[in-house]
Order: sequence, then C-alpha cells, then structure tokens
Amino acid sequence: MFPAARRYAAQCGLITCIATADSLPVRGATGEVSFGPFAVNAVSPVRAAPSRPGAGVEPASAPAPAAGLKAPPPLAITRFKQLDYVAATDFAARLGLKGKWEEAKRELTLTTGTRRLVLTAEKREVSFDGLRIFLGDAVRFRAGKLYVSKTDYERCLLALLRPDDVGAPVPRLRTIVLDPGHGGADPGMENRPLRVQEKVLTLDVALRLEKLLRAEGYSVVLTRRDDRQLAPTKEADLHRRAIIANAAGADLFLSIHFNSLFPDTRVSGTEVYVFTRPGQRSDQSWGFGQADDTEHDVAPVNRHDAWTSLLAHAVHRETIGGLKTSDRGHKTKHLAVLRGLNCPGVMIESVFLSNDAEARRAATPAYRQQIAESLAAGIRSYAASLDALRPKSPPTSATVPRPAPSSLP
Ligand SMILES: [Zn+2]
Repeated sequence: MFPAARRYAAQCGLITCIATADSLPVRGATGEVSFGPFAVNAVSPVRAAPSRPGAGVEPASAPAPAAGLKAPPPLAITRFKQLDYVAATDFAARLGLKGKWEEAKRELTLTTGTRRLVLTAEKREVSFDGLRIFLGDAVRFRAGKLYVSKTDYERCLLALLRPDDVGAPVPRLRTIVLDPGHGGADPGMENRPLRVQEKVLTLDVALRLEKLLRAEGYSVVLTRRDDRQLAPTKEADLHRRAIIANAAGADLFLSIHFNSLFPDTRVSGTEVYVFTRPGQRSDQSWGFGQADDTEHDVAPVNRHDAWTSLLAHAVHRETIGGLKTSDRGHKTKHLAVLRGLNCPGVMIESVFLSNDAEARRAATPAYRQQIAESLAAGIRSYAASLDALRPKSPPTSATVPRPAPSSLP
C-alpha cells in the first residue's frame, strides 16, 4: 500500500481518490509496485462490502451500506469516436481490484481473489481466468490509461468480476429450455465422408443433457424432440425456437450446435456465443471485408446481457475444462435464435465437424455424453453463482448455517 494514497483515500470520495492514484509517480515500467497510471492497488478499495454473507471473494474493505444510503456515483465517462468508455483504473478502484501494468506488452492485469482479468491496449480480446473473451469494442489506450467501453463493462465484465454489483434482480432458475440446432430438411453442418450430421448430434446431446438436468430438479423443455424443422423457412424456424422458450417461461436458454469451417479441416475447438450487445458490431463483422453490422435497437435478450455473460462464462469454462478442447472464445453474433428471448441465453459450438478428429469423437455416444455433462456442469456453476447472490434468510436455532460459497465464476 502506498502510504500517501492510503492517507488520501481515507479523506476523500472515490473519484478524487482515483485521480490521486493516477497522479502518483511511476517507479518502474512493470510490476505491482509501479504506482503509475495503473496504481489501482495504491488506493484503499472504497466499494461497499457485499450485502450477503460470503458473497465476495475479497475481504470487505468497507462496511455494508445501510438502507437509504446513496449508491456510489457513476463512473466517469470518456468519449472516443462517439463511444462511451470508462477508465480501467476507475472501475478497478470501485471494485477493489489489484492492478499490474506491463509496459512492454501494454497489458493490465486486474485481480480480485482468484479472478484475473487481462486487458491489452487496442485489442478486443481479453483474458478472464485464462479464457478468451472477445469484447464488442477494443480496449483503448489514451494518455497513459486503459479504457473499456461502457457497454462491455456494464454488460459483460462487471458480471464476471463482481456479479453482486450488476444491480439487476437476480434471476430465478427453474425452467431450462434446450434447443437442439437444425432438424428436418436442415441437417446443419455435415461431415459426409464420416456420415456425421449436426442435427442428429445436437438432438442426442440435448436429450442427454435433459436427463442430467431433470435429475437435478429442473423443469426442462426441448424446442424439438425429433427430426423436424419448426417452421417452413430458416428465419421462421429460428424465431420459433425463442417463441417456444418464452411460452415455456424459460429462465435459461441453451442452443446446442456443432461447428464447421469446411473446406478448412484444420480448425478445432469450442466457441460460446451470446447475442451482440446494443450499439456494437458482432465478432464476425470485424473480419476482413466484412460490413459493420451494428444494431442500435435493444433486442429483448439484451435486457439480460449481464446474466447472459455470467452464464456464457460458466458454460465456456466447463466445456473447455471438460472436453479439453482449444479455446476459440466467448464471442458475440446477431443470432436470430437468441434475439427474442425473455431470459439469458447462449449458443454453444462444442467442436468442429469439419475437423475429422473432432467429428470422429462427436460421433461416439461417450463423447456426446461428455459434452452433455460439461454443459450440465456449466449450468450448475451458473446456478451456484445466482444462489450465492440471493439474500440469505438469517439462521434460526432450527437451521444450521451452510458454509458460504468460496468462489464465483
Ligand atoms: Zn448449427
């Protein structure tokens, strides 16, 4: 702790404290002792303690706010190219994160407890707990500070770093809708030499996952239970899947797919998709020659972006961990099947059918069971995160307090 910063932090409000940290002298280009532009660990964290026991993984640095006390002021906004950004130093101080800046890589590592976020100047790809996440906007580097777009911070990173600070009511999780991709005349991706069809594999994984989730007490609905299209056109078929989920009162939607980049047969690995956040381009639109596909309207599923990010990360972590596939990232796309959802929703592309080795594995029932178990583990982890966020009723003499959860995704 930098003594001058600690003294000042005790005397002033949050924003002033951060300004003080920014003005501290730089002692070196790299390392935690470099209290320069990224001296977030030089400031006493002043964010309020979580309001539920054991919710945070960091020791509380300030007492929980009493009812009626004002929420901390909003983070300062800086505009670059007509987009709103927040300084990483500002949200790090707000969330009580420690920072380490590596000048050579222009990389800022922020940590809290066991969580670790790595931001790199001018890149959209960030690393969170060792997993690849592609933000909607590049991290900006201006005047010695890193900035993250307000949309990426509020709708993605905040939920991962401090889900107890999201500010939206914690969603319930009782009804899960599983969506086996494709069906009927639409086979999805195919590996013809191996006689593997995506529509067959997605249904099989969904049926296996349904069994696992029902055994855990969830109500599970499938958008299809046999080999059929849900509407005459592809567009209507995709919309129909979200309509089924909403009619079932879904609390979580998981669309199950297998990937292909045919004729490229080398690419392998796992991708997790969420619907593109408002005002941002989808991941694919950043590719060479692709048009800007920004949508400014808020799709129904965008109302759940923060919880969707938490769900996507849990599913991402458990599938990469369970299947030992290469990590192709948590990405965004304007997916018609997710657009109309009234609940958090993600799409999983577990492995590539255009890669013969992965297609051969996917063709075995044992591997599809492994996929289903990894997805169930992801949903279980998301459920545990939500449970940890819910207020606990005080223990009575008739109840024995359970240990608080030790970690969140
Ligand atoms: Zn598909």
